[in-house]
Amino acid sequence: MAEKVQIDQDECIGCETCVELCKSVFAFNEDDGKAYVIDEDTVDKNCVKEAIGSCPAECISCE
Ligand code: SF4
Repeated sequence: MAEKVQIDQDECIGCETCVELCKSVFAFNEDDGKAYVIDEDTVDKNCVKEAIGSCPAECISCE
């Protein structure tokens, strides 16, 4: 079953933790200072769960 990763752009504080933990899924947008999801269908990775657990703003969701 496919899950989708999303970042709540309003809540993201741009700490880049998710990008550091999971470069293949998250990237940093220099223009607005927030992280975004490169491919929301690539959830099949342990680093996504790690990023969700490490995000200080708790704004990464996976459903
Ligand atoms: S870890 Fe959370 S707050 Fe930090 S950049 Fe990623 S989504 Fe934004």
